[in-house]
Amino acid sequence: MPALSNRTKDFTDSVIRRMTRVSMKYDAVNLSQGFPDFDPPKELLDRLAEVSKEDFHQYSITWGAQNFREALAEKQSKLMGRQIDPNGEIVVTCGSTEAMMAAVMTVTDPGDKIIVFSPFYENYGADTILSGSEPIYVPLYPPEFNFNTDELEAAFKQHPKALILCNPSNPCGKVFTREELQIIADLAVKYDTFVITDEVYEHIVYAPYKHTYMASLPGMWERTISCSSLSKTYSITGWRLGYIIAPPEIIDTAKKVHDFLTVGAAAPLQEAAVTGLRFGDDYYKWLQDKYTRKRELFLKGLDDIGISHTVPQGAYYIMLDISEFGYKDDLEFCYDLAKDVGVGAVPGSSFFREDVNHLIRLHFAKKDETLNEALNRLEHIRSKMTYRK
Ligand code: GLN
Repeated sequence: MPALSNRTKDFTDSVIRRMTRVSMKYDAVNLSQGFPDFDPPKELLDRLAEVSKEDFHQYSITWGAQNFREALAEKQSKLMGRQIDPNGEIVVTCGSTEAMMAAVMTVTDPGDKIIVFSPFYENYGADTILSGSEPIYVPLYPPEFNFNTDELEAAFKQHPKALILCNPSNPCGKVFTREELQIIADLAVKYDTFVITDEVYEHIVYAPYKHTYMASLPGMWERTISCSSLSKTYSITGWRLGYIIAPPEIIDTAKKVHDFLTVGAAAPLQEAAVTGLRFGDDYYKWLQDKYTRKRELFLKGLDDIGISHTVPQGAYYIMLDISEFGYKDDLEFCYDLAKDVGVGAVPGSSFFREDVNHLIRLHFAKKDETLNEALNRLEHIRSKMTYRK
């Protein structure tokens, strides 16, 4: 057999998604891959049932159905503080996963460099490999996950084509302040670099923190490619609806990349999701309250057990410190945790460029009863896990 591609030969499967399969195997409460186990809003499901009997079974326009783009433009215009043109400034994609890949393909050539903050969401590594670009990693330092401006500028001095910004951040829960965004923006302007954002947790932010859109900073609309999705906002991760918002010159190319990658996102699902895009502000307030309560419940449970952890400002992940168990390999820890304790988690090493093996990631986008069950199981973590000292 001829050799397979060099580009993909070092790929592993996604550890995040593998841990869902491991959780299923051991019947563990799956707090690994981040997705809810509660229903999407009823209005979306009702509309979806109707749509199955209407005329939405063929391709929509490749860059997204007209009414979907119009509803999205109206919603995001309010949030981003500028009038977004549904025809020239949006591409609808198969999840933010495709949006990010298409954004990277739109702005880079093989050999180009891309700044990625570490810890980072697993897919960005794969995005750089698939596009033939090279990541420059810049560390975020716990507990606040702040960057060092000199280190960031040193990365910009290597003439990257783009910087990837996950805000609110998966996995560390950081919500970048306006001041931090301004530092990044100033460097992006100074070194003539694009910023590709991943803002899928834009509506999951805990008071007093607030989400600021990079594209809304002065001078940044021109060089920001904003990627996001409906997955987390409407609890529909399986619908795979995402999008890119950017100036028309960038969108022109992104439309073509997207067209050749996937042709388009599922037409019936776009139609049903328009209902969600037209929700009023009260929905987003309700969502935020819901996650605020879940965060409280879960963090309190972990504090009662007495394991130290990060406190997210946004998104729905926490990193648990597992140093006390003495494992050298956090992946092995996660397998044992699923098997012996019955809780699925993602090893921290999946997110860090640095050699970090003492953290695991859990998420709390689950029904209260699921979270309580996970906490009940975690109460026995010290008696059930082996110690590797
Ligand atoms: N963003 C989610 C996570 O980090 C899942 C994303 C995915 O698997 N596509 O767990």
